[in-house]
Amino acid sequence: MIMASIRFENVTKTYEGATSPVVPNLNLEIKDKEFIILVGPSGCGKSTTLRMIAGLESITEGEMYIGDRLMNKVPSKDRDIAMVFQNYALYPHMNVYKNIAFGLKLRKEDPAEIDKRVHEAAKILDLEHLLTRKPKELSGGQRQRVALGRAMVRNPAVFLLDEPLSNLDAKLRASMRTEIAKLHQRLNITFVYVTHDQTEAMTMGDRIVVMKDGIVQQFDTPQTLYEQPVNLFVAGFIGSPQMNFLDVEIAKEGGRLYAVLGKNKLAVPEFKCDALAKYAGKRVIMGLRPEDFLGQNMLTEDNAMDAEMNFSELLGADYNLYMTVSDIRIIVKIPAAGKQPERGAYRIAANMDHAHFFDKETEKAICH
Ligand code: ADP
Repeated sequence: MIMASIRFENVTKTYEGATSPVVPNLNLEIKDKEFIILVGPSGCGKSTTLRMIAGLESITEGEMYIGDRLMNKVPSKDRDIAMVFQNYALYPHMNVYKNIAFGLKLRKEDPAEIDKRVHEAAKILDLEHLLTRKPKELSGGQRQRVALGRAMVRNPAVFLLDEPLSNLDAKLRASMRTEIAKLHQRLNITFVYVTHDQTEAMTMGDRIVVMKDGIVQQFDTPQTLYEQPVNLFVAGFIGSPQMNFLDVEIAKEGGRLYAVLGKNKLAVPEFKCDALAKYAGKRVIMGLRPEDFLGQNMLTEDNAMDAEMNFSELLGADYNLYMTVSDIRIIVKIPAAGKQPERGAYRIAANMDHAHFFDKETEKAICH
């Protein structure tokens, strides 16, 4: 089995006729057998990056390796990859079996071997009972599983998936997410998966590449992205509802640091003070996730904020409270025990241990 690590070295992609690159100077190293997600807003260069791995887009400058092999000039068909797209086109006149077998037949593989691989794939994807059906007799999820099967039977070393679930409804998407994660475990090969959906990214990947304007912002595990976002963009992009951003002044009083927001004065925990000390007297952005608020029994002079609750919504186990603090709108998530909270004035307790601070100019994280 070949090692299917993927390495971009100073890769730039400029489309023909364009004046600036869509991906400038990409450096990225994906390990063999990893499940990597490329995530970012529409147009940030995710598909372009994936298509460069696939050999469907040329590399303008720099080098891309799969294993130790330089791929720049290797045709797509010789790269040992398989790709699944959003618009999986199954052949409508062929049944499931033939759709899955088609690529292998084209390559003139041994019929007994083809039969074995189709049945193996069908078993893994739970399609065995559907092998004689035509695509129109399948549900959206089943069709997508056939598309996965068709890619799988080629025994690729790298599996590339470009928004494969975006045509499915929400419930099916959630179950297919689990299916694909399981498939990765079964196949034990490198997966690179493109999505604009941060939930998909957070639930599926070993590591996530967050991109913006063709530039990698952060490449790390879901947990690290969530707990230690490197800048305001990543902090706002990862997490739902998104992180609340509060423009605060850092004040030093009696040897302690406070984040001051109107009349609210929040004590900065000791362990964040070293990094924040040089911001004393200056304004920074404080980030608090909706879930970073404490129960009323934890309210103290050091973490209290005066807030006005305008609206609340019940989301199963939680309430999302839409509040304003010193004219800034925030969302606070609390466990849904008891009756729906009423509108009006509240004192809420910020979990300052979880507060993030960002430099206003560079937008980079100061501390978490
Ligand atoms: P994403 O997958 O993140 O939505 P893409 O990689 O598809 O982003 O596109 C990145 C940018 O490159 C976009 O601005 C898009 O319009 C542009 N682009 C994509 N494909 C082509 C192409 N074949 N020719 C010219 N520009 C393209």
